Amino acid sequence: MTYELNVAHLYGDLMNTYGDVGNILALQYYAKQMDVHLNVKVVSLDQDFRADDYDMAFFGGGQDFEQEIVSQDIQTKKQALTDFIESGGPVLAICGGYQLLGHYYIDAKGDKIPGIGALDHYTLAQDHNRFIGDIVIKNADNGETYHGFENHQGKTYLGKDEKTLGNVVEGKGNNGEDHTEGAIYKNVYCSYFHGPILTRNGNLAKRLLVAALKRRYPDVDFSKQEELAVPATF
Ligand code: GLN
Repeated sequence: MTYELNVAHLYGDLMNTYGDVGNILALQYYAKQMDVHLNVKVVSLDQDFRADDYDMAFFGGGQDFEQEIVSQDIQTKKQALTDFIESGGPVLAICGGYQLLGHYYIDAKGDKIPGIGALDHYTLAQDHNRFIGDIVIKNADNGETYHGFENHQGKTYLGKDEKTLGNVVEGKGNNGEDHTEGAIYKNVYCSYFHGPILTRNGNLAKRLLVAALKRRYPDVDFSKQEELAVPATF
């Protein structure tokens, strides 16, 4: 392979609802076609995340129990993760990971679980309810449609610098109220989609990889990689 990228799989041993690790497999699948080798490393409890060591980060979803443990540890990585995000580092964050990048998450028991506030959203609890089921959204800027499956208790409200990943066509999305689903901030993509999102929406995998390549190799023309054909979403 001509290129290589270092990927941090944040808390990969704890945050893996519905096989979110499949996103890593999808990234590897598309990276190979782009002539890119991925070095993937799980970065978990008591391990350092150094912003300069990585070209991309992936953060999966989790249950409240794991989220509470991760919430405490991730405060030690708050500055480095914020630096990575602010410098344009590409991140994919799903469900519980999405919630913990924001200000806080109120869990099913009503406890406030602190996030790192790198993104400006916050997540409230529902009253004995979860949003569960298939979901379809459409991104108004690029016209792409994304398909997935959601299962979350939390209701997320976006902050002022965040755009939605897509508007809800079918399903509940961030909060079941404002028809938004997920968030985009700089090169950070957040979503409630499990299943996992990149296996069904290869165009997102391509976008993350191209962003990481351009950042790591600023003098190289990656238009060929950008033109890679990915299967249409279904
Ligand atoms: N525990 C969180 C919630 O219920 C996140 C769930 C998940 O990652 N699937 O909202």
